[in-house]
Order: sequence, then structure tokens, then C-alpha cells
Amino acid sequence: MGTYDQRPWLPRYRPEYPHDVEPEFSSALAMFEDSLRRAPETEIVRYFDGTLTLAELDRLSDQFAVALADRGFEKGQRLATYLQNIPQVLIAAIGTWKAGGIVVSINPMSRVRELTTLLSDCEATALLAEEDLFGQVAAEVVPTIPSLRIAWTTSPLEFQTRHDPRLFGGMERTRHDGTEDMSEVLASVGDREPEPVELELDDAAFLGYTSGTTGPPKGAMNTHRNVVFNARVYREWCGLTPEDSVLGVAPLFHITGVVAHTAVCLLVPMPLVLAYRFEPNVMLDAIREHRPTFTAGSITVFIALMNTEGAVKEDLSSLAKIYSGGAPIPPSTVKAFSAHFGHYIHNIYGLTETTSPSHGTPRGSEAPVDEASGALSVGVPVFSTVVRIMRDDGSDAEVGEVGEIVTRGPQVVPGYWNKPEETENALRAPDGSVELKTGDVGYMDDQGWFYVVDRKKDQINAGGYKVWPREVEDVLYEHPAVREAAVVGVPDEYRGETVKAFVSVRPGQSVEPDELIQFCKERMSAYKYPRQVELMDEIPKTVTGKLLRRALRS
Ligand code: AMP
Repeated sequence: MGTYDQRPWLPRYRPEYPHDVEPEFSSALAMFEDSLRRAPETEIVRYFDGTLTLAELDRLSDQFAVALADRGFEKGQRLATYLQNIPQVLIAAIGTWKAGGIVVSINPMSRVRELTTLLSDCEATALLAEEDLFGQVAAEVVPTIPSLRIAWTTSPLEFQTRHDPRLFGGMERTRHDGTEDMSEVLASVGDREPEPVELELDDAAFLGYTSGTTGPPKGAMNTHRNVVFNARVYREWCGLTPEDSVLGVAPLFHITGVVAHTAVCLLVPMPLVLAYRFEPNVMLDAIREHRPTFTAGSITVFIALMNTEGAVKEDLSSLAKIYSGGAPIPPSTVKAFSAHFGHYIHNIYGLTETTSPSHGTPRGSEAPVDEASGALSVGVPVFSTVVRIMRDDGSDAEVGEVGEIVTRGPQVVPGYWNKPEETENALRAPDGSVELKTGDVGYMDDQGWFYVVDRKKDQINAGGYKVWPREVEDVLYEHPAVREAAVVGVPDEYRGETVKAFVSVRPGQSVEPDELIQFCKERMSAYKYPRQVELMDEIPKTVTGKLLRRALRS
């Protein structure tokens, strides 16, 4: 594998980036503690009119860790968070690490079926949920998960005094049976300090659930090494200093939120501006009030900001460092955004398995556009990262030749939680070393720029949210009228791609597309259910009975 160093596409034409960087810290917790020592009064979170300093975060996370240990939580156990973008996400992450645990950050849009799958798969010991999400979804799930012994609830209203009616109108504190209130739990700990726990760089810090390249959701083990490394990538790649502050537009449960918001803020350290969830006008108010300088998110949020009535250039004047990943960016959007707000959107690329970015558009340069496909380059590999393009037979493609993108570097996860076969298939080179087959198809040009032009995997990319067709098909099959179902991604002006289902109906039955849409909507996250359903007599299949998704897409 040493031969990789000779490949022309190593980004050696950018000598300012070191290639083999050693981890700066022994864990993500040590990274936080270093910043705490240097600058304890840093306002690490700004949430509406509330703030949290590093010193306060330290005290609250100490209490969190003590309370977990009091309830028998041990090293290596999993605490699941089921939260929107609220300050408690940071308290839970650091508190869990202090107790030696692994954070499983679950999409707050998850419904009963999805939450059950994830909590069972990771065998969570503890759950921290928002009170209303607990009532709507988790209350039904918790009794069915045998491993779960701790259930805490918390409120998004906790760290603010001014409640924005656009988000929190009518929201009240609610207590649920069988749960404890997080703030009461912490208060009862007082000033007791947690017993120190040894964390290793290769211990998992997070489990990031992803459908990956195949099948149902899997927990990518984002280790402390992965998180410490990619926090550094954001700091150096994007040129971040304590003078900067971050706008939290990405969901904090997703790996981009974990690294480009939580981890990099702890590393620099610098404030993270949170606005609960993405609501363009609320976000604009937060920008106007707190003047953040950096953000990373999905292109759909930048399009939404641009399309918000009353959003003018001056509003975003502070926000000069903008990075977008998770989904393709149309070059025309970069131009339009720049004309509207005066800032260039840097394309970055990565997966949950690469702990956010493996590639990025370097500061001061503009990504080129591939003339044939019209795709904007996703950038060049970040430092210490080696990427090759693989042909179907496993050999290396030539410069300019299209193949699968295969990545190795300190940000690549060593495996999926409890899934040796999937780990072997997606994350191991023939010699057993860690190397990720991304399932993305692309090429590298003679200057070292990479382009993603297609996908090998069946995944649908709805504005950065990934949908696995099988999961939607499985729900459709639960409807008594459905004989066959095939789900594909179709072009969508706002999200890039959206979910469409083709359905054939059982003889003697009838069903309307709207009924099937509603049926799915009740059973899955809002971004997953089909926006369109087309009834067909017969779903096209190969002679071996495999669905012809490509035929349906066109
Ligand atoms: P996730 O695991 O949710 O981060 O999704 C990773 C997938 O998002 C990748 O495998 C790509 O298919 C897609 N993706 C990420 N960044 C980009 C980008 N800049 N352009 C095109 N697709 C992207």
C-alpha cells in the first residue's frame, strides 16, 4: 500500500498542508479539557438569549457523568440522544465521555419504527430525549428495549429566557412516567466530581447511523481519533480562530453537526450559535444578532436562506466562511448565492464513515466545474488523506477515468457497530487495512480535483438526508393493497432529489396514491416518505427478479 504515495493525485501540489499529522489529543474529551484550561470563560454556546461557557459546560457535564455512574452506567456503554439542536447535546456528549461511554446521536425526526431499530441495534443503556419527542415517539419504544435502564427527558426551553413563538409557541414542560428530568438529576449531584475514566484514541466517541452503501442503518464507529482529526481539519482547512463563531445550521445528530459544529467549537474554542432547528427566519434572526463567521451545512439550507423574503446582503456580511457538503451543489446555486450575499460556498465532500470531510475546496480557490456532467468539483483530499479511483476489478483507474471513490486516512471509521460482514465489505482493503469504498462514483482530473458524478449505491439523497429505498419499500409492503413496491430518487428542484414510489396493487384491491403517501408519512421520518406515488400494473424487473431501479428513475 506504500505505493499510494507515488500516485499523481496526492495533493502534494499544496505543500502547505502537512501529510502525516499526529493526533493533537488523546481523546475528544482531552481536546475539550485543553480548551477549558486555556479559555474557561469562552461562550461555547449561544442559544437565543442564553449562553453557556466552557466552565459551565464542564460543571454540567461533570454532573451528567456522576449521575450516569450513580445509575450503573459503565465504560463502553451507549447513551442515545434524541434531541434537536439544543445546548444539552454538548452536555450529553462530554458527560458521556467523562463516564467512558459512547454517544449515539439519533435523528429527532425518527418515528417509532426507526427509533426502535437504532436503540436495539446499539443496545443503548441510556436515553436522553426532548420531552415532547418522548411523549410522541419514545414513550412507546422505551419499554420494548431490554438494555435501556436510564431515561432522562429535557426541554428545549431550558437554556433560554426569551421563547420564540415561531418555534416554541404552546410548548410546555411535560413529565413522563418512568423518566427523570435531566436538570433535576444534575442538580441532585451537586459538586461531586466523576471518577476519571481512561479513553483511548481508538475507542468509539459516537455511533453515526447511516445506511452506508448497503442495506439497513448501521452505526459507523466515529472514534476519538476520527473526531480529533477532523475537528482539526475544519480548523485548518477553513482557517478558524477564537475570533470566529459558528452558525449551527447542520443537525447536531449528523456527523457534520458533530464535527463542524460541536467538535471544532470545543477545539478552537469558539461559540456555537444554535437556533433549535432550521427555520429560515429564526436562523436569520440568529445571524443578525450573533454575527457568526463560519458555517457548514447542506446546500438546501443555503438555498432556503437565499429564498427568504427580506434576507439581504448585509444580514450575512459576517458569515464569510461557508462550506456545504452532503449533497451535490449546482454551480448555478454557488453563483446565485454569491450574487445575493457576496460569499462563495466551498464544496466539501465526505460520509458518515469519513467523520465528515475527506475532500474540500481549499480556502482562496474556487472549485472547477466538469464540462461534460456540469458537476462542481468536491475539492481535493484534505491532509493526511489518500484517495484512489477504483475500477470494477479492484485495480486503480487512470487520471480522468471514472470509477468508485476509495478513501483512506485518519478520519475513516474502523468499522460498523457489531457488523463484521458489512465492515469487511465496505471498510477493509484486501490486506486488512482500513479503507472505505464510498459507493460514490467519480474521477480525478489532472490537477487533483475530484468530481462525484454518480452512485453505485441505491441511496437517495434528499437535500443531504439519505434515504434507503428498501426501508421505504418495507413500509409500503405493510399496506394490505400493495403487491409490489419500488422506490427511487427523482430530480427535485429544492432538495436535488426526492423520494418516489412505484406500486402495483393486489388483484381485487384498490388504493389511491395519496392514501399510500399518508400511510408512509405516519410511519417514518418526514424526509423519507414518498412525495410521489405512481401506480403501475407491473414493476419492471430483470430476469432474475431484481428491481430495475435505473429504468424507473428515468
Ligand atoms: P452521509 O453519510 O449522510 O454523510 O452521506 C454521504 C454521502 O453524501 C456521500 O456518499 C455522497 O453520496 C453524498 N455527498 C456528500 N458530500 C457530497 C458533495 N459535496 N457532493 C455530492 N455528494 C455528496
